[in-house]
Amino acid sequence: MRQITIVGGGQAGLLLAIGLRQQGYRVRLAQNRSADAIRSGKVLSSQCVFATARAEERALGLDLWANSAPAIAGMRLQVAAPDGSGAKAMSFEGLLTGPAHSVDQRLKFPTFMQVFEQKGGSLEICDVGIAELERFAADSDLVVVAAGKAELANLFARDPARSPFDQPMRALALVYVNGMKRHDGPLCVTATLIPGVGELFMIPALTLSGPCDILFFEGIPGGPLDCFDARADVDTQVARVKELIGRFVPWEADRVANITATDANASLVGRFAPAVRHGVGRLPSGDPVLGLADTIALSDPIVGQGANNAIHAAKIYLDAIVARGDAPFDENWMTTTADAAQKRVEASVQWSNMMVLPPPEHAVMLLGKAVGSPTLANRIANGFDEPATILPLFADPAQAAAA
Ligand SMILES: Cc1cc2nc3c(=O)[nH]c(=O)nc-3n(C[C@H](O)[C@H](O)[C@H](O)COP(=O)(O)OP(=O)(O)OC[C@H]3O[C@@H](n4cnc5c(N)ncnc54)[C@H](O)[C@@H]3O)c2cc1C
Repeated sequence: MRQITIVGGGQAGLLLAIGLRQQGYRVRLAQNRSADAIRSGKVLSSQCVFATARAEERALGLDLWANSAPAIAGMRLQVAAPDGSGAKAMSFEGLLTGPAHSVDQRLKFPTFMQVFEQKGGSLEICDVGIAELERFAADSDLVVVAAGKAELANLFARDPARSPFDQPMRALALVYVNGMKRHDGPLCVTATLIPGVGELFMIPALTLSGPCDILFFEGIPGGPLDCFDARADVDTQVARVKELIGRFVPWEADRVANITATDANASLVGRFAPAVRHGVGRLPSGDPVLGLADTIALSDPIVGQGANNAIHAAKIYLDAIVARGDAPFDENWMTTTADAAQKRVEASVQWSNMMVLPPPEHAVMLLGKAVGSPTLANRIANGFDEPATILPLFADPAQAAAA
């Protein structure tokens, strides 16, 4: 049976590794952090996964928290008044056709690592560099690099035509909390746009200790939300989040009055530049390796797409590897496979890139229209699941006007 090596045991690498084991491949998963290190480490993401991607996980037997994660039924979109007065300018709620879930990756990844090993996969805990990649390329039929946005992504040439930003477009800061007051109506992600300042996302989630909420600020760099110190302790981060909600989203202050951090590692601060890269990288020996998910299609998390895209891409790679049969995984096949995955997530990448820029007038009008139209509100909500269905509305003033 063919030997596949996957570097990086995150959202995409784990799914692909488990899927390949289910098909009987010999799979080595080389991952730099052990399950224990991930479980006892800092939170990694807000990882809201929508129904389409969840169905792809379910098909692999991996929708393991279907009954324990809070079922997110819709998206509440709000816009703060542009004058900075702290007033709410507009809000609407759209219902999702199927529930979304956010399962703390500190819970998900170690569980998937265990599933992989139970299925006979070989897990190597090692920090992979070029020397290890050369070794893997020599003894494997295929090497897939799914190392997220880490250093190894630089093996894959950045595609300037599809990477409009060479700087981070948002300063990211999130905390996982207990004690949030529920809003009225169906359980939703609440997304608030604060013009000229950034965004706040409130995401019901499941963490190591049970259900919780994630409060996630995306701040325009250099602006008032770009104020989090990565070295500060979690209670300081929670206090800062509360203060910023009181200042910029005061109508939500009551909901966060009694929040506390879920654990000492419940906060994350960072920033990165989005980048689309070529799918095939070349080692010094000349051997090609295939990039997957964030490694070759990294978006700002402003519309929460990366984990969904990682799942879609892993599924495409799994199907392509199986369909290849005994034929070689040559560079042509790698390029075709990576292109198929990039095409699948293209609308999501474009939408993410659009949303980090000041919204054009037609996009603001579109959101305003959704306030009085449940049909449009539902359509926009489900666009988070399949961005291709709403990208034209955000991209084209005529389509926005006709919506
Ligand atoms: C603040 C924030 C909020 C987010 N919110 C959302 C959201 O709400 N919805 C959504 O869909 N997405 C969200 N994302 C994005 C999402 O988490 C990622 O896109 C997704 O996890 C990418 O999957 P991946 O498999 O490509 O990489 P990862 O999940 O990052 O996995 C990469 C793995 O590779 C390992 N690794 C790295 N380097 C090496 C090496 N040299 N050797 C061996 N192993 C290595 C890492 O330890 C890691 O386990 C968010 C991201 C951030 C930062």
